[in-house]
Amino acid sequence: MPIGTTWRGGRTGKTRASTDPYRGDTLAELDQAGEDDLTEAYDTATAAQRDWASAPPLVRADVMRRAADVMTDRKDEITGWLVRETGGTLAKAELEWNLVRSVMWEAASMPHHVEGRIMPSDIPSKESRVYREPVGVVAVISPWNFPMQLSNRSVAPALAVGNAVVLKPAGDTPVTGGLLLARIFEEAGLPPGLLSVVVGSGSDIGDAIVEHPAPRVVSFTGSTPVGKGIAQKAGLKKLALELGGNGPLIVLADADLDLAVSAAVFGSFFHQGQICMIANRIIVEASVHDEFLQRFVDRVKALTVGDPSDPATQLGPVINASQLEGIQDKLKRAQDEGAQVLAGGEPFGPTGLCLPPHVLSAGNDVATAREEVFGPVITVIRADNEEDALRIANDTEYGLSSAVFSRDVGRAARFARRIQAGMTHINDSPVNDDANTAFGGVKGSGIGRFGGQWAIDEFTTDHWISVQHEPREYAI
Ligand code: NAD
Repeated sequence: MPIGTTWRGGRTGKTRASTDPYRGDTLAELDQAGEDDLTEAYDTATAAQRDWASAPPLVRADVMRRAADVMTDRKDEITGWLVRETGGTLAKAELEWNLVRSVMWEAASMPHHVEGRIMPSDIPSKESRVYREPVGVVAVISPWNFPMQLSNRSVAPALAVGNAVVLKPAGDTPVTGGLLLARIFEEAGLPPGLLSVVVGSGSDIGDAIVEHPAPRVVSFTGSTPVGKGIAQKAGLKKLALELGGNGPLIVLADADLDLAVSAAVFGSFFHQGQICMIANRIIVEASVHDEFLQRFVDRVKALTVGDPSDPATQLGPVINASQLEGIQDKLKRAQDEGAQVLAGGEPFGPTGLCLPPHVLSAGNDVATAREEVFGPVITVIRADNEEDALRIANDTEYGLSSAVFSRDVGRAARFARRIQAGMTHINDSPVNDDANTAFGGVKGSGIGRFGGQWAIDEFTTDHWISVQHEPREYAI
């Protein structure tokens, strides 16, 4: 892993393998990093950042542009890694590759959009300048589900506006969440020391990466409980927290059901449901509930589950055995609470991690509706009417993505504005596949936004510099 200015193993004496969740093959074995490695990474980052911050914007833009070119040149290698290490299908790998490349392009524009201001002053001959500066060093912690995209959407903007980054990818995805990205930036000409990747366990470096004095911003994407823990440890550091979700997809009585069913299949089961923006609950107005459910279940039963490297496969394996256990536990509890299973099946495949998509019919109070499942499970809930649908949609601690279907766009927009969420899509899936985002959540889904100007603001800070041009008199 790149620690400081060299590629080497971590020094804890512990190793961990990255494995293919479908075949079980070992893809890489890595000596895990500990606190000493982290300190070296932060010290080097702090030193290297000064020159990088003062480099002309064009120099930083050029690295981002060349990184996007490397993405293009090495597309097959990158998507191959994404399929093998995350268990995602080829379609998912292709989308992730495209998002990463798009963010690099967008990051190439950022160095030229960091703008300061001149403020008015009430003191004669005084000039008030506000410079927008990089924060310095940024810590990035990312999850395993879209590892390359969720690392890069912080790493690329943070570097582009003049920061150094220390990145901790998830234990299941050290290559696609970190090492591969570091190789790409290296190939693109990023000077050494500006991007360190520390692959290590949460217990060895989790606290230290946040508590170390070097990072001024901690950019975390992951679960709500871990995000809350990080907020407690971060002290006065700036936080960008992108956390869990429990997305509602609402089908109003006047919806185009063909459209709603297609979007709901994608929005519930893309990448085996392991997406923060996924629909965790489908809420359907009573008058169209039965018809929607019938059509939806028929489509779900026809989905192909299995080898993610087969282009015909629509759902691959879930990421690991403990994740599968957690999903099965929620399924069992939901059934004990009265949920009816309309589609499902037992896990299968070489590693036993291919879980067929499950459709449950239940109220909003069963485990699979109350909690974020993060797996191929959807709970369909009947609502008495529009008001009831809104009440159910908002009855959750989360507020990330959501979707509403209606032929009347005005009605859907009024409904959308009353959903407590950071993102709502009208007549489209809650899983956003657009590279141009205003990404972010409310309530238990986090604080902070990603995309465009938000990213620039997140990784820069104001420095007010005043200049007194002529001698003045002080009233003391
Ligand atoms: P997780 O919270 O378990 O882990 C995320 C990262 O945090 C990993 O790198 C992990 O090693 C690290 N980590 C774990 N404990 C830590 C600690 N004490 N201190 C510092 N770092 C620690 O999440 P996960 O299982 O990898 O991902 C799934 C979760 O992430 C879901 O809840 C999902 O909704 C959420 N997620 C959110 C978004 C978003 O943008 N809002 C995107 C993807 C995933």
